Amino acid sequence: MTTQTQQADVAIVGAGIVGLAHALAAARRGLRVVVFEQHTHAVGASVQNFGLVWPIGQPAGHLHNRAMRSRAIWLEVCQQAQLWHAASGSLHLLYHADEEAVALEYLETSAESHALGRTMLTPAEVSAKSPAVQAEGLRSALWSPTEINVDPRQAIRTLPQWLTAAYGVQFQFGTAVQAIHAPHLETAAGQWQAAQIIVCSGTHFESLYPALYAASGLQRCKLQMLRTAPQPAGWQLGAALCAGLTLLHYGAFRPCTSLAPLRERLQAELPFYIEEGIHVLLSQTSLGELTIGDHHEYAWSHDPFSRENVDAAILAYLHQFAVLPQPTIAERWVGIYPILRGQSELVLHPAAGVTIVNGLGGAGMTLSFGLAEEIVAAL
Ligand SMILES: Cc1cc2nc3c(=O)[nH]c(=O)nc-3n(C[C@H](O)[C@H](O)[C@H](O)COP(=O)(O)OP(=O)(O)OC[C@H]3O[C@@H](n4cnc5c(N)ncnc54)[C@H](O)[C@@H]3O)c2cc1C
Repeated sequence: MTTQTQQADVAIVGAGIVGLAHALAAARRGLRVVVFEQHTHAVGASVQNFGLVWPIGQPAGHLHNRAMRSRAIWLEVCQQAQLWHAASGSLHLLYHADEEAVALEYLETSAESHALGRTMLTPAEVSAKSPAVQAEGLRSALWSPTEINVDPRQAIRTLPQWLTAAYGVQFQFGTAVQAIHAPHLETAAGQWQAAQIIVCSGTHFESLYPALYAASGLQRCKLQMLRTAPQPAGWQLGAALCAGLTLLHYGAFRPCTSLAPLRERLQAELPFYIEEGIHVLLSQTSLGELTIGDHHEYAWSHDPFSRENVDAAILAYLHQFAVLPQPTIAERWVGIYPILRGQSELVLHPAAGVTIVNGLGGAGMTLSFGLAEEIVAAL
């Protein structure tokens, strides 16, 4: 007996945010889409993250525009799929003159930011945006209204059901794609054929196209994350919070000439933080828990162990800028994302009709929807 080859216009490997974003972009163009996910539900980077859509981190120009387009799509999708989200905005809290100098230079050199409502706030104005801010020693803050917060665990679980209901996207969960010979895919559940195959397989570099991944410069970045229990009595964090270390982390601030003296001071005062790539973000989930992280460790393969000294450093820095009603940690995990350092993503075309999209680093929630529209439009 021969088993029939099943057909789709677009086949996607991976039901993380990158795969889901491509499924949406293709389905919105009227294409028949099938998504293969090896696990019974996605458990990779897309559920390990903060859920922060963070345009303020992206450098001005194309990437910032892509982040803002993604933000708009997230808002549409959250509304249509009834996903929890909070348009919380963000505060970079500034306790030192050199941190304030970077924020001011960033605003002075970014006309776009002014138009979006990014501005400096006084300590009194800051306290109206979040009750958690440590007021002692605070000089000012960089306020941005563009950041939104989604619940990645809810969103990544719910989006497949919504994509099926709204656009007829087929999902094959628990189905690994074992080989691709375009236009054919060999899967654990038989053969499929698709005019376009988009491989969004995240950190799974060793299964499909291993030689290409090995030569690509991709790495895996390991991060330690923490979460409190729900805060008491419906306490609300308000804006997502971060402080001076975050200015070193994101590309948006890299053109600022005032960044070099800040880096020099932080290197001298907080060498462990710089060595471990620690910067600290604080956001709140739909259930009122507070998500806290992270550090950055880059390698091809990582051991699975988390280090208490890294968690302790993250929490020590957090408590310098945030005062929480209930700071006890209820959950810890290690997250891993794929990254091509120095690049915003990796896009390869290993064969006619096959596109690999990977390496979105720490900005996959922020950039995937916009990137996917660009990729699908170019197929
Ligand atoms: C701790 C942490 C915090 C982060 N915080 C943020 C944040 O706040 N904001 C932000 O913008 N970004 C954040 N990120 C980054 C973001 O989470 C990632 O960029 C993004 O999730 C990557 O998505 P992905 O779809 O490429 O990978 P994944 O989510 O790993 O999805 C890939 C999927 O492909 C499947 N797969 C692989 N091979 C096969 C195969 N052969 N057949 C079938 N299925 C296959 C895997 O099972 C997996 O489910 C964070 C990441 C981490 C780890």
